[in-house]
Amino acid sequence: MTDRRRQIHPASPGLSDASALSSRPRVVVVGGGIAGLAAATGLAERGVDVEIVEAQHYLGGRVGGWTEHEADSDSPSQLAMNRGFHAFFRQYYNLRALLRRVDPQLRMLAPVADYPLIDGAGRRDTFRGLPRIPPWNALAFALRSPTFRLSDLVRIDARAAAPLAAVSVPDIYRRLDHIDAETFLKSINFPESARHLAFEVFSRSFFAEPSQLSAAELATMFHIYFLGSNEGLIFDVATANFDVSLWNPLQSYLTQRGVRFRMGDKVLQVTGGRAKPFNVYTGSGDRLDADAVVLAVDIGGLQRIVAASVELADETWRTQIQRLRTAPSFEVRRLWLDRPVRYDRAPFLGTAGHPPLDNISVLERYEREAAAWTRQTGGSVIELHSYALDSATPREAGLAQLHKIYPETASARVIHERVLHRSDCPLFTPGTYSRRPAVVTPQPGLLLAGDAIRLDLPVALMERAATTGWSAANHLLQRWGVAGHELITVPTRGRSRLLRSLALRQERQPR
Ligand SMILES: Cc1cc2nc3c(=O)[nH]c(=O)nc-3n(C[C@H](O)[C@H](O)[C@H](O)COP(=O)(O)OP(=O)(O)OC[C@H]3O[C@@H](n4cnc5c(N)ncnc54)[C@H](O)[C@@H]3O)c2cc1C
Repeated sequence: MTDRRRQIHPASPGLSDASALSSRPRVVVVGGGIAGLAAATGLAERGVDVEIVEAQHYLGGRVGGWTEHEADSDSPSQLAMNRGFHAFFRQYYNLRALLRRVDPQLRMLAPVADYPLIDGAGRRDTFRGLPRIPPWNALAFALRSPTFRLSDLVRIDARAAAPLAAVSVPDIYRRLDHIDAETFLKSINFPESARHLAFEVFSRSFFAEPSQLSAAELATMFHIYFLGSNEGLIFDVATANFDVSLWNPLQSYLTQRGVRFRMGDKVLQVTGGRAKPFNVYTGSGDRLDADAVVLAVDIGGLQRIVAASVELADETWRTQIQRLRTAPSFEVRRLWLDRPVRYDRAPFLGTAGHPPLDNISVLERYEREAAAWTRQTGGSVIELHSYALDSATPREAGLAQLHKIYPETASARVIHERVLHRSDCPLFTPGTYSRRPAVVTPQPGLLLAGDAIRLDLPVALMERAATTGWSAANHLLQRWGVAGHELITVPTRGRSRLLRSLALRQERQPR
């Protein structure tokens, strides 16, 4: 937290603990991903009685981790597995606040000094050593990039590009949500050869093709990671598998505060809640009664619960939920190879122009379990991510790209392999912002949280999950007169007055 202009959103005042109330409120949090865990933490720390119901047997949702037992190999072994590589950016203030509950110095995370990006022509961009202050970070990146030429920069349509330089949230959605990211980048003459940079770092992180993504989401990403914050683009990674580094410690912390965990049980239906307790029905046949419910589940889960719970909220809201869309499926493939990759391979490499591959990570460079496996066997643990897959993509296509980019892997034997195919990330298509469901629902006591949920603040992905979780807790605490939790974000509007006034002037100029 080095950005002096980060924005503080103060906590609402109130009682320090819910035990001072005439009866202690009970909340069921559905979903044990980041959003659910943040909501549960916010409530439990103020003395609220909390039960988390999580469908899987592990916490963390899309950032979950577990151990697999490999029995059929020559030597039975345990394999650390998780939902896939995640970058923890420095501007994820509210996620970091959650993790600091169990590790104040955040030793569970370690910086990745660089993450190069290569394109189909083998050109390599890097984020190493960039200045952190906007707009010098963007300028330095563009000037030293082999994919940007000075002439490309000059050709960018400054008027059309103005909203990028002075993003303000939520106003940017009014300006750009009607258009898709690809059309927007074309309209500003963003150089064709450099478009992969914007797509790699920002658009495909949303698991969507740029033609499917709202330009406002893309601009918000530029703001959060590049032009609106001086925390820098360098990120941290977990130093051990996610269960070990992040969620087991948080589970112990919450258990000490009385939170109960119902793992491997699904919420099927929620009823009641109007002048009587909510009744939460689970797949194991139990009924949990609560004064409030936080639905912190992915879109598919939310749609199923709401479809089965016909009494909840109102028709408009229920339609909003059913109209949410999930991004196309993606693949996370982890390989345990019998030999190491070359010593100078980066911990994380973004790959454009190598379909379907989006990135390669070399786990033994940063993760304890993989490093131990490498020491034991002399091999490497590699993870391949391929996003926005279509059904025609051949299964082995990502592997073929790995062999091309890191040729030493072509002759390596795959000792173990785990492949996850999932489609549980939200898709933010153009024109949908205004009808996205928000944290507060039309039904008092029923709250939403998660990375698909609208919050008029500059947050995305894991940080949106965490911030909506804290925010759901804050709304409930305020309702009961109990003190909330402070939230922090990058500035909600473009940080440079000069760029803001230039953007305004550009916009006002007649065409
Ligand atoms: C491969 C991959 C890489 C990513 N990389 C990054 C990255 O580098 N940086 C970044 O910021 N973000 C990244 N993300 C996005 C990030 O993982 C998500 O934004 C974030 O984890 C979402 O958290 P959540 O709590 O909103 O949802 P989830 O993590 O999906 O949690 C929802 C939980 O609800 C549970 N659930 C669903 N239905 C029910 C039910 N009926 N009853 C009980 N429980 C239920 C699910 O099992 C799940 O645990 C990545 C995502 C993926 C898939």
